[in-house]
Amino acid sequence: MKVPVVDLSECSVCGTCVEVCPAVFRITDAGYVAVAELSAYPQEDVDLAIRYCPEDCISWQEV
Ligand code: SF4
Repeated sequence: MKVPVVDLSECSVCGTCVEVCPAVFRITDAGYVAVAELSAYPQEDVDLAIRYCPEDCISWQEV
């Protein structure tokens, strides 16, 4: 199964992924991006988030 992963060391917490794909990405109270634990991820929306992430720090990982 493919899971989206955020490289937090590169993430600028710009919020773009949250806007594009709020079902998957959120900004925690601690101020970093968290990925929801889902049984399946919306491929197109995550791909959009990957495309628009200004830091290029979202990727799919096979688990
Ligand atoms: S779009 Fe990229 S840089 Fe912006 S908050 Fe999401 S993961 Fe971080």
